[in-house]
Parts: sequence; C-alpha cells; structure tokens
Amino acid sequence: MSRRPLKSDPSDVRANNIRAAFSLVSREGKMTRAELGRRMGLSRMAVSDVVSQMVGNRLLRKVGLDRRTGRGKRSVMLAVDTDGWLVASVDLTQRYVLRAVLTDLLGHIVERVEIPYECSGSLRFETVDALCAKVLGQADRPVLGLGVAVPGVVNPEGTVIRSVALGWSDVALRAHLEQAHHLPVLVCNDVNMGLLGECTFGEGSADSLFVRIGQGVGAAVCVSGKIVDGSGYSAGEIGHVVVDPQGPECVCGKHGCLETMVSVPRLRERLAAQTQTRETVLRQAGTMLGAALAMSIGLLDLADISVAGPADIVGTAFLDGMRDELKAKTFVDYHCQPAVHRCEQGDDLVLRGQAVAVVCRLVDSVRDRDGNDDNHRGNAAADTLEGTLGESERPHDSTDAVQPTKLMTKMEVAGSR
Ligand SMILES: [Zn+2]
Repeated sequence: MSRRPLKSDPSDVRANNIRAAFSLVSREGKMTRAELGRRMGLSRMAVSDVVSQMVGNRLLRKVGLDRRTGRGKRSVMLAVDTDGWLVASVDLTQRYVLRAVLTDLLGHIVERVEIPYECSGSLRFETVDALCAKVLGQADRPVLGLGVAVPGVVNPEGTVIRSVALGWSDVALRAHLEQAHHLPVLVCNDVNMGLLGECTFGEGSADSLFVRIGQGVGAAVCVSGKIVDGSGYSAGEIGHVVVDPQGPECVCGKHGCLETMVSVPRLRERLAAQTQTRETVLRQAGTMLGAALAMSIGLLDLADISVAGPADIVGTAFLDGMRDELKAKTFVDYHCQPAVHRCEQGDDLVLRGQAVAVVCRLVDSVRDRDGNDDNHRGNAAADTLEGTLGESERPHDSTDAVQPTKLMTKMEVAGSR
C-alpha cells in the first residue's frame, strides 16, 4: 500500500496521535506524559490533550507516580486501561470446535466460549452467528470490535474470497456480521493472525516468516513491520507450490505440492508406514521445507522463521533438517542466517493475534463512540483507516518519526487484511 500524504483534517491528526500513543504505552508498559511527548515529538499541551482524551475514553489509565528518579516532583505514570474495553475474537480454523474469546486491549484472554462443529459441506452463517452471540453475551464491558480469523483468502472488505476448509466462495462475512451484531468487524486470514500473534507475543521480528504445518501448509510474511498481502490477497499460500514434480498426486491435480510432502496427515501416514525411522522422516520433511523456503529467505533477507505445528512433528529433527538445508542453500558471508524456531504460543495464538488486529484497527475509533454504546461509528472509522505504518507512527505536529512499537507494528500490518 503506498503511503498517502497526511491530511490536514484535525480528526486525522487526533486519530494518528491516539494510535501512536496507544502503541508506545502498550509496548513500554508504563510511561509519563513527558516521556510520551518526547517520543511522539508532541508539545506538552498536545500530549496532554491526547492523554486526557484517552484516559476519558478508558484507553489509558493513571497508575501511580513515577518512582524511578530520586527527587523532585513526581509525574503520573500512564498504562493501557485493561478494564475499560473488551475485544471479541473468533477462530474458524479448527476442525471439530469453533472457538471464541474476549480479551482486554493488550490481548489477554478474559473469557472463552466454544461450540462443537463437524466439518461437512460448508459452514453455515447461523453457526458463526451463534458463536458470536455467545461470546458477546459474556461481555460485561463495551466491546471495541469483533475479529474473525478465517482459513482462506480474505480481501480488505472482509469478504472471504475462497476458503476450501469452510466451503466458502465470495462470502461477505464482515458485512453480514456487522449487520447481525451491530459492532465493527474485522475478518482476517488465520495464518496472518498467527504471524501477528507470534510477532506481538512471541519471537517474530519485523522481518519474519511464519509457517504453519497442519492439515495443509500455510505461511505469512512480515517485511519491514508490514504483513504482505499480495496482489490477490493470497501471499503465503505456499501449500500448492510444487517442490518435487515426481512426488505424489495432490488434491489440486499437480504432483509433489509442498502440502503432499510436509502436511501433518501426510507425515503421519509416512510415520505409520514405518519404512524409515521417525527421525529420518521428520528430518527429510524439514529439509524439504527448508529447500522450498530458501529462495524467499534469500530474496527478502528475513531475520527469522517461526514454525507452528504439532509438537510430535515440529521438533528437533524437523527444525534441524530445515536449518541445515537453509544454511546449505543460502549461506554467503554477508548474509545473516535466519533464526529458525518453533512457535511456542500454543492454541490461542490466532485468537490473540486477531484481537491485536482489532485493537490496532479500531483504537482511534473510540473517540467517536459513546463508551456505553455499541453503535456503528466504529465501522466508518475502520473503513477510513489507511493502515500504513508510517502514517500512524508519525505524529502530526512533528517531523520526527516515533520508533515503531512491536504491538502497533503488527497491528497496523494486520489492519490491511
Ligand atoms: Zn496441490
């Protein structure tokens, strides 16, 4: 997405400042107004204005006095208000259960609900609605927005272009849910939300690759703090790229797709056949994945690769095979080798990443809302967000860019999906 010139509308200035301030405080944990002003390049009066609005809207709260210095008048410390708002996050990726959570503004889970789901045919709207209603019914505070992570290709309007797993094509999910539940909705690709979760809560960096080994194989890429969407919103869909033309036939009709070589069902079949040792099968699978990713790593100079998958598959043998192959294929003395690690964030990763995406996308819309009302103003705000990191990180009355923060980096990224 190209960076657009900053507009002079005072409400845009305010929105940018709110997002930048929220981003900084959420990363630092606690900050004084003066520190915030320095980091954002805002005058005392301007920062005071932003902070008082955010405290009034329950985005930030005062948490005592700054005790880090010895003498003089102590300043008030600010932190994210984790009691003012909730975020609803829904995960449609599991095969037998649909899960949803409520989180605070920092992505900490405060409530969970789930409903059983037998995947046969296509997932019905009624089922998704029931899950959303159930999780929203648990909220004892205003809900900032609802995020839904979908296994499939999603466009920026929240339409699911294609989801094989859910049996959906061109499903306007966001429009349906906003109408049904009367609050702002964000629909995102599930692997992108895994990447966002890993970057926010785990080990992902601003230049990283997230790979998920499951029923299929999916990836998501973050370059310079921005998740890459691709021209048709399907960046990272590597499962049906051929890695061995002599390999087994795939459901897509080709032979030797990555998915036929390293997906969990295929690897479990090979392990069950016991024609090779467990270590050999898993090491070969890691090698295959490393070989498939080598060109992307060399092309983009990525710093780390996080692999999510079942512990019995994505273990030492798999990761060693991947590391050795990447080194063999990409090593040159001026190129740092990417760190390859297993994602340790557990089953809630996508749900928490999706919650972060909602916060990033909608935090500045709170100023338009009545705190006790779940009205529609936030939808419009979500629609007008440009989602570029540079805009949101740069306060309006300064030419000094604020350092990108980890949380906001991911979130801005996610907003475009
Ligand atoms: Zn295929």
